[in-house]
Amino acid sequence: MPTKEEVMESLDAVLVPGATRSLVKLNLVRQVAISDQEVNISLASAALNEGTQDWLKAKVRDVTRKLPGVKEAEIGFVKAKPKDLNEIRHVVAVASGKGGVGKSLVTGLLGVSLARWGHEVGILDADITGPSIPKMFGISTRPSGSDSGILPVLSRLGIEIMSINLLLPNEDDAIIWRGPLIGGAIKQFWEEVLWGRLDYLLVDLPPGTADAPLTVMQSLPLSGVVIVFSPQELAAMVVRKAVQMAQKMNIPILGVVENMSYLYVPDTGKRIELFGSSKAQEMVKAAGAPLLGQLPIDPQLARLCDEGDIERYNSEAMNSFAEAFLQAISAKAR
Ligand code: ADP
Repeated sequence: MPTKEEVMESLDAVLVPGATRSLVKLNLVRQVAISDQEVNISLASAALNEGTQDWLKAKVRDVTRKLPGVKEAEIGFVKAKPKDLNEIRHVVAVASGKGGVGKSLVTGLLGVSLARWGHEVGILDADITGPSIPKMFGISTRPSGSDSGILPVLSRLGIEIMSINLLLPNEDDAIIWRGPLIGGAIKQFWEEVLWGRLDYLLVDLPPGTADAPLTVMQSLPLSGVVIVFSPQELAAMVVRKAVQMAQKMNIPILGVVENMSYLYVPDTGKRIELFGSSKAQEMVKAAGAPLLGQLPIDPQLARLCDEGDIERYNSEAMNSFAEAFLQAISAKAR
């Protein structure tokens, strides 16, 4: 007879339709009992419609019966809420004092580096006022699910993505919502989306320091915040406000990132500070947190984002930012 680990291993090869992540990674396996020639498996039905449940039942039975020594396999479903199944090591918010500094892009790049290095990553696009994450990743699939939850959409690299944009009838529909309403919607994304097991869930916050990012921060169990700014930012005051907001809620600031720091000219190897000189030191002081990275303006990056191909981008600057991020989070977790 197989061991429990062997059964789990075979279940890890069963991908849930709609999510294309395995039963194990989605944390849907609730119980595995092995007795004399029989294996009993209990799965959670959260976010799975009836058709998917039937398909999974047949598939799991099939896979399990193929294991050596197994004569019979019984597969059952139990009810569970996504929020009780989600096991996320770190929920990290990405914030900015104002819009247009590239907060979503920085969130996307961080997710891409982490996923390439083998971490399980999800991105919750909470920037409901300008949700640009799905576009960068070239995703327009409507998430599937049932009354008991929603499954995130998987990117090409295997990043779980959820955005209000994916749920709207028309991608271009503008959303004009007040802060508290945004908070409510995000809370739902947190509680009703089956993220499953993740190392990092990156939350792309609405910009600014008004109600909207605040309510989002309050609804999620954040491990920390990353603050994005650009050299165009007129004063460290905006960053300071964001810092105060996080401090008030006892959320550690993991660090700051300067985006559009300079323009790199490949022909000459020169760096041009298009938006004036770096504000990095000023921001580090304002945030009382380290500088995690400085990302250049890169026309190739802008193009890949427009084409929905952010996952094809790779640069030293993005990887060194992601490395500094991992260091900052492990330092805070200690
Ligand atoms: P925010 O989330 O702060 O509102 P976005 O991430 O949506 O901003 O970025 C705004 C626009 O600027 C996007 O079209 C993006 O492609 C572009 N952009 C941002 N950062 C860079 C960069 N480092 N290089 C090239 N284009 C960038």
